[in-house]
Amino acid sequence: MGLVVQKYGGSSVADAEGIKRVARRIVDTKKNGHQVVVVVSAMGDTTDELIDLAEQVSPIPAGREFDMLLTAGERISMALLAMAIKNLGHEAQSFTGSQAGVITDSVHNKARIIDVTPGRIRTALDEGNIAIVAGFQGVSQDKKDITTLGRGGSDTTAVALAAALDAEVCEIYTDVDGVFTADPRVVKKARKMDWIAFEDMLELASSGSKVLLHRCVEYARRYNIPIHVRSSFSGLPGTWVSNERPQGLPPQVALRLAPHIASQGDRPVEQAIISGVSHDTSEAKITVVGVPDKPGEAATIFRAVADAEINIDMIVQNVSAAATALTDISFTLPKAEGHKAMEALTRAQSVIGFDSLRYDDQIGKISLVGAGMKTNPGVTATFFEALSNAGVNIELISTSEIRISVVTRADDVNPAVQAVHSAFGLDSDSDEAVVYGGTGR
Ligand code: ASP
Ligand code: MG
Repeated sequence: MGLVVQKYGGSSVADAEGIKRVARRIVDTKKNGHQVVVVVSAMGDTTDELIDLAEQVSPIPAGREFDMLLTAGERISMALLAMAIKNLGHEAQSFTGSQAGVITDSVHNKARIIDVTPGRIRTALDEGNIAIVAGFQGVSQDKKDITTLGRGGSDTTAVALAAALDAEVCEIYTDVDGVFTADPRVVKKARKMDWIAFEDMLELASSGSKVLLHRCVEYARRYNIPIHVRSSFSGLPGTWVSNERPQGLPPQVALRLAPHIASQGDRPVEQAIISGVSHDTSEAKITVVGVPDKPGEAATIFRAVADAEINIDMIVQNVSAAATALTDISFTLPKAEGHKAMEALTRAQSVIGFDSLRYDDQIGKISLVGAGMKTNPGVTATFFEALSNAGVNIELISTSEIRISVVTRADDVNPAVQAVHSAFGLDSDSDEAVVYGGTGR
């Protein structure tokens, strides 16, 4: 029997009862003959509380100290979990990220893993222990300072350890039963998928689905580590995320489609055309008004934004009015970076030569994702018809080969997601999706 890496999120270990429940599950896995490495997040909202505390003593806390503080959350849960396992009569040892050999670059608050040297974990396993590792943290290669991987980074820790230890599977335990066709907090009739390809999962993650972080899925795809997302509350089988549909699963059920697309022809059933509908309300929109319509303008605008180290998402440029030869350029970016971007653009105003800036954080993004849309013509029309029937106005549109995204008013997001979900026949006819706790992270 092989090695299994299990990751438990904050809502699974929110209190002493949760920790004991998780400990029993871990011990059961061990009893089934597996070697078990566990990655654990901080209990409940501990990380948020630590952030609040830091902000009370300093508006801009120093990165090094901030990371030192945040990693304390995972230290608490890892030690308690090890104690709970020992109490069940099994051997367990807890390790910080640094002790587990998680080596990162030195960018505080969003460090990247550059190497994993899990010597101590191997030794602990060989001696018969269950190894418990603090998620979301590491040690920088050059300065040997403690770093964190960014919010939700424990998933990445788990996949990185699974890759370094050549694990059979990386199980991610969370507060829902798996990956759903839409956020079950918004769509009650969302359907749990039994499998989703890395490619589709990456698009869902980058368009707002919170169940797995993009970086974690990317890591898993690079090292070909299958992820099994499941609930620590129900124990039901969850969703496999991997290159190929696992052999043990039943064959894929009939194409999930709106009836009017299905009737366009008798295509053989290969795979689901649509994987899911995701949404994101964490972005804002900036409009640069009155930009001279000449070469180099967009370059200057986006250089100013890039130099402030801001990542942008969607962009749209209006056709310039013939009389003025001026145009507007709008783009979306994380709300958290909005202030920085407005400052950077204001500084560059005389060089760029625009009239004014508009900032709008009452927007939301809805995305439809599915590898099958490459080859199925009706998808885009059905998507826009669904939005139109729901009375939703569209402000920006962007597409990739396997995704269509629109920006709408923030208030329209939930009805829009529900409408699109139904229009593609994704609504389940059986049980309502269960959310066991937490906030979706
Ligand atoms: N505790 C950290 C956070 O809340 C890391 C994690 O949960 O993965 O972001
Ligand atoms: Mg957390």
